[in-house]
Amino acid sequence: MEFSLIDRIRQRTAQSRDDVRLGIGDDAALLAVPSGQELAVAIDTLVEGVHFPHGTAPADIGWKALAVNLSDLAAMGATPAWALLALTLPNADEAFIDGLADGFAQLAQTYRLALVGGDTTRGALTVSVAVHGFVPPGKALTRAGAQVGDAVLVTGTLGDAAAGLRLLQQSHHSDAQSNYLIARLHRPTPRIAAGLALRERASACIDVSDGLLADLGHICAASGVGAEIEAALLPRSSALLDRFDDARSRDFALSGGDDYELCFTVPPQRVASVQADLAKLGCGATRIGRIVEGEGVKVRDADGQWLEPAQQGWDHFRA
Ligand code: ADP
Ligand code: MG
Repeated sequence: MEFSLIDRIRQRTAQSRDDVRLGIGDDAALLAVPSGQELAVAIDTLVEGVHFPHGTAPADIGWKALAVNLSDLAAMGATPAWALLALTLPNADEAFIDGLADGFAQLAQTYRLALVGGDTTRGALTVSVAVHGFVPPGKALTRAGAQVGDAVLVTGTLGDAAAGLRLLQQSHHSDAQSNYLIARLHRPTPRIAAGLALRERASACIDVSDGLLADLGHICAASGVGAEIEAALLPRSSALLDRFDDARSRDFALSGGDDYELCFTVPPQRVASVQADLAKLGCGATRIGRIVEGEGVKVRDADGQWLEPAQQGWDHFRA
């Protein structure tokens, strides 16, 4: 049974690449790293009921499990190449496997990413994906490197996924805005092209998986600096602003997780050219604040008042 499941996954995710010498089917995959490239590797696990709600469509689970990993490669400025998929399933449900493999393959195709192996076991629904990508030596973006005076920018819009989760948890109408926000939760877009464009231009970069405040906080800690954010500048989608009031949507944008946008820092003289290039890539980038001496992230509201940590939404989401 296990083997027919693996075979279904293999057939549905078939993607040929010259650098895959041996893919699914042997004891290990054999992969040829292009000479002169560094390998960027990352792994992330999604557990049902923790990282995605019970009842999430299998194709959305497959998409998201890969997307969150590609987002980590994007944040490093790496080009995706290969993935491993470790699946733990409560039962051998073929329709479920097919859906999951299809959602995974749909995103994988965009990047010509090959699924080269994995593991399949029985237990509570858990999906682990490991990704491998390439980056020229020394050119990877990291969390360290933000300098005092750098501008802080973020791609796309923030808070949509947290809003989508909130809508799922309450009885919502299936209007266009709600559907958009829920799709942002289930089908995040990894900002691969943006990450590549930021190589040799951004001083630090991270993907926003745990919420802007937490993730920008990681840049600050790794770089030994602080950051000041203007709440009025946070990019929010029209769907978010339509479905939630100003204070709630601001909290989602500051502290909601699962957006998978990139937050990065650049010297001020480079902001305009970076913004122009990311606009061409479709996601755009918004300047939301600056890097300062000190530590931690401070947020100023629209009237110029500093928000207290409690107002920054921490209690909301940590409780
Ligand atoms: P082994 O017992 O040698 O670890 P497995 O029976 O676990 O081998 O897997 C057989 C082959 O199928 C291996 O090439 C493995 O990488 C691949 N594989 C197993 N599960 C998955 C999966 N969920 N997705 C992709 N490939 C898988
Ligand atoms: Mg095995």
